[in-house]
Amino acid sequence: MNRANDARAYRIALVSHCLLNSNSKVYELARHPGMAMEVLEVLNRHDIGVIQLPCPELLHLGPSRWWQVKDMYDTPAYRRFCRQLAVPATDQVRLYRQAGATVVCVLGVDGSPNCGVSVTPRSGEWGGRPREMPFESLVVPGRGVFMEEIDRHMRDSAVEPPPFFGLALEDMNRPLADILRDLEDFLATQLA
Ligand code: SF4
Repeated sequence: MNRANDARAYRIALVSHCLLNSNSKVYELARHPGMAMEVLEVLNRHDIGVIQLPCPELLHLGPSRWWQVKDMYDTPAYRRFCRQLAVPATDQVRLYRQAGATVVCVLGVDGSPNCGVSVTPRSGEWGGRPREMPFESLVVPGRGVFMEEIDRHMRDSAVEPPPFFGLALEDMNRPLADILRDLEDFLATQLA
């Protein structure tokens, strides 16, 4: 194998589906018409290729789903579903590492009941008739179901999980520039 004429940097990030496809978002939470290009540009500037994870909510409930908290997704059957979705991600991390690549991170979306990394919405009362409650007030520290299952499936498969980082894109009051700065700071520590 001759690597001399090959431009790849052997850097990869697993990213939440909606970073490349806003159409998967719950209504009112899409910040971009199509793709979160600013996030992808940061990754590209660091020579990081992306693996687009599947969107578990879109596959499970479709594009017209209600807003839900983690507790509503936290069932044994839904966790099994998320584990199935985690299998190709785990396989790819193993394969790319065997090829000498660095899997820099799993990039999730903070505030999501599935892709949250640092924060996720929780409530034991959120159910029944959709209600007009301030969803933001339900956000607490913790991971979403899908991120937890990715982590667990990798560990159970003897694949060391990459570092996880959550973009605060669902905090609609947070300026995008701040979110990108947080990402840059995180990458600086990972790539140092
Ligand atoms: S944050 Fe995760 S679950 Fe929510 S839309 Fe994006 S990919 Fe789907």
